Amino acid sequence: MGTYNNMDLDAFKNVWVFCEQRQGVMMNTSYELISEGRKLADALGVKLCGLLLGDNVEGLAAELGGYGADEVVLCESPLLKNYTTGAYTKVITDVVKEIKPEIMLFGASNIGRDLAPRCAARLHTGLCADCTHLDIDVAQYIEFLKENSTLDIEKQKWNMEDRNLKMTRPAFGGHLMATIICPRFRPAMATVRPGVMKKAAFDQAKADAVQIVRPAFELAESDIATTVLSVEKAAREIVDLIGADVIVSVGRGIANDIEGGIKIAQDLADELGGVVGGSRVTIDSGWLPSDRQVGQTGKTVHPKIYIALGISGAIQHKVGMQDSECIIAVNKNSAAPIFEVADYGICGDLYKVGPMLLEAIKAAKAAK
Ligand SMILES: Cc1cc2nc3c(=O)[nH]c(=O)nc-3n(C[C@H](O)[C@H](O)[C@H](O)COP(=O)(O)OP(=O)(O)OC[C@H]3O[C@@H](n4cnc5c(N)ncnc54)[C@H](O)[C@@H]3O)c2cc1C
Repeated sequence: MGTYNNMDLDAFKNVWVFCEQRQGVMMNTSYELISEGRKLADALGVKLCGLLLGDNVEGLAAELGGYGADEVVLCESPLLKNYTTGAYTKVITDVVKEIKPEIMLFGASNIGRDLAPRCAARLHTGLCADCTHLDIDVAQYIEFLKENSTLDIEKQKWNMEDRNLKMTRPAFGGHLMATIICPRFRPAMATVRPGVMKKAAFDQAKADAVQIVRPAFELAESDIATTVLSVEKAAREIVDLIGADVIVSVGRGIANDIEGGIKIAQDLADELGGVVGGSRVTIDSGWLPSDRQVGQTGKTVHPKIYIALGISGAIQHKVGMQDSECIIAVNKNSAAPIFEVADYGICGDLYKVGPMLLEAIKAAKAAK
């Protein structure tokens, strides 16, 4: 292995995305990050590489190419079949030390959140967790600030040549956005929450053109402190909030009749072919399971239709749903902040408005 000096910034090149597969199935987040990584690599004029670990997973490489990867750095071993922190950390840090990427992105999934900080600590570099926006180009970053911040852009001094990765994430409970750079060490590392970045269109020509690189690495059973005995799928069906076209979410407004409120949301979701989500209150109170939470500490969603029933629209909820194509809010308080982001706001009692909406949708469908 070559000498590894992570302060020699010029020795580091290319953007890498850790591509997470489970039991040979690629996680959607990997495609989102590859799509985002493509933009960063183009801004830097470098290659975009997917880093893929597993056993017999070469078949997934073309898919990554189709979403924008030039190259897939492939590490295969029976010892990498199931995710273990020890094995993945060792292999990733070894290949990073050898090949020296300048940027590394991980999905903020359970695995990404476990793996990225370990790798960052071993590589002695910085990691910005839960990013919601990434930039290289300063002019583009300024455009982003103009739309999303109250900063007086003209009064700031800008180094337009700066090529650091600008990693933006919510801070102070979502009330502020902070942009973080890692100017002295490489690779600059970030985790990005699933659903935040948009997946590019799949391109078969790019999929066919993807290059596969197989770096040498060493991995022994003694490197792995844990043994995976079996992988059990959760018996309960996990709802795919991120991929849903229609989400009907409930909030504390259903407190007076929880079952009734959830039924109204479920009936609407069934009629529209959607799923039921909720604000954090509904998860913390045990009314809905945790995979249904929308918001800063839940899922970031952008469905075609988002219906909010009895949700006030706290900033931490809004950051997770405000990019939905059409937002319909039902709240009995006309001053509720949810109405600021709603395309259609209905001021009223959800127990009355919900069933009326359902009947109206049924009637509209019948009239078609
Ligand atoms: C670090 C941090 C992270 C957080 N992460 C998240 C997150 O990921 N997601 C999230 O949602 N929250 C999150 N929160 C919590 C957030 O700040 C709010 O507390 C939460 O979103 C409020 O949920 P709510 O809108 O359901 O409840 P409330 O704010 O209590 O609002 C209930 C609303 O229902 C309306 N209502 C009541 N009865 C009816 C009725 N019968 N018909 C119609 N309307 C009615 C009321 O007018 C009110 O507007 C986070 C907070 C912190 C500090």
